[in-house]
Amino acid sequence: MRFEFSLFSANMKPMNTQEKTLIVFKPDAVQRGIVGEILARFEKVGLKIIASKMVNPDTEHYNFHYEEIGKLGTRRGQKTLDTTVGMMTVGPVIAFLLEGVESIALVRKMVGATESKSALPGTIRGDYSHMSFAHADAEDVGLSNLIHASADPEEAKQEIAHWFKESEIFHYEAVHEKFTQPKKSHK
Ligand code: ADP
Repeated sequence: MRFEFSLFSANMKPMNTQEKTLIVFKPDAVQRGIVGEILARFEKVGLKIIASKMVNPDTEHYNFHYEEIGKLGTRRGQKTLDTTVGMMTVGPVIAFLLEGVESIALVRKMVGATESKSALPGTIRGDYSHMSFAHADAEDVGLSNLIHASADPEEAKQEIAHWFKESEIFHYEAVHEKFTQPKKSHK
């Protein structure tokens, strides 16, 4: 006799492994002209772009993004919140939604640690920037670390709703999906 065990009991739903996540190319990435090069990294791992736009949001938009959702001032102090919002309003940013298998954690791994100085080589912040917290604090500036990425599923949900309307999000099948994000329907 053969017994088969399922990872899920009858009333438990399997984990939703298909996730959408927000990335925002900050003004330093846009003004340095390295957006395309960095974006290619996400395409290379098989993540799918499902929305994009260049915008220049105001202080109110960023206060909501960084404090109401991200709790940046609560975690790192009002001065950090203010310098970060000031850094972001300097120029246009380019926002994307990426979709893929557990994409929220994957993108954070690729982006690397908050402090560029500590971000490992191979990560975006580690490869393209070197700013430190000490320098940002001494100069009263934001830490220009190129890219924002949603931290976890709850933050991703709130950020996506804050940055994109439903009508700006596209649903299509990429040609590589049957290998990069295979599903039962591909069989
Ligand atoms: P992450 O962007 O890695 O999720 P946080 O949410 O803690 O990190 O911070 C948001 C952003 O605020 C950082 O990416 C960085 O640009 C800026 N920042 C964080 N800490 C400081 C600091 N001590 N001084 C200046 N800017 C900071």
